[in-house]
Amino acid sequence: MRENILRLRERITEAALRAGRDPGNVRLMAVTKTFRDEPIREAIEAGVDIIGENYVQEAKRKIEQMGKSVEWHLIGHLQTNKAKVAVRLFDMIHSVNRLSLAEELNRRAAAVGTICRVLIEVNLSGEQSKSGAAPEEAPSLIRTVAAMPHLSIRGLMTMAPWYDDPEKARPCFSGLRALRDRIASENIPNVVMQELSMGMTDDFEVAVEEGATIVRIGRAIFGERPA
Ligand SMILES: *Cc1c(COP(=O)(O)O)cnc(C)c1O
Repeated sequence: MRENILRLRERITEAALRAGRDPGNVRLMAVTKTFRDEPIREAIEAGVDIIGENYVQEAKRKIEQMGKSVEWHLIGHLQTNKAKVAVRLFDMIHSVNRLSLAEELNRRAAAVGTICRVLIEVNLSGEQSKSGAAPEEAPSLIRTVAAMPHLSIRGLMTMAPWYDDPEKARPCFSGLRALRDRIASENIPNVVMQELSMGMTDDFEVAVEEGATIVRIGRAIFGERPA
């Protein structure tokens, strides 16, 4: 595992340098859905400092076991009725894709007196199976969420479809970056367009070339997920 992580960091560095970027601006998230505690602990010992989970209940159990020495981010679809638990558990929620969810997160964060850091998830592929706001709806969603005092927008997230050739995902990633730049130029109060969460095991190098600041990697660290 240590080897896997070292090798990944090298590949991230090389991709960043190819694009003239500072490799220090790309963070590696270990995506741990379905993986057991032991390998996750090993990854943390090997220096991983952001863990990404898809399901609130699974994450809750793992966080209780492993503690908050690392950041825990939610990257999976969030049901509105789990918002209450989610605001307490996660350092960042990457999957804010609709107004009703943002409203509930804001309400729940207010109730516990915290500010919840969020990314707006955008669906750039148009694939039905991918959740995420449509790119043409994202700016107005962001302006509305920006006015919610207990949410802090830190950037954008996307998931590209799976392609046999990762180059085919490039338009998704460059599209997210273009959207980020456009929204950043509006200088909306309470919106920090810092993070671009994009790129997974099969396409992260292309994502880094296109500006990813967080890559979300599961299989290249832990191996195939149990069926
Ligand atoms: C599972 C998952 C990942 C990681 O996928 P790998 O192919 O294992 O690297 C990244 N992002 C999201 C949203 C996921 O659900």
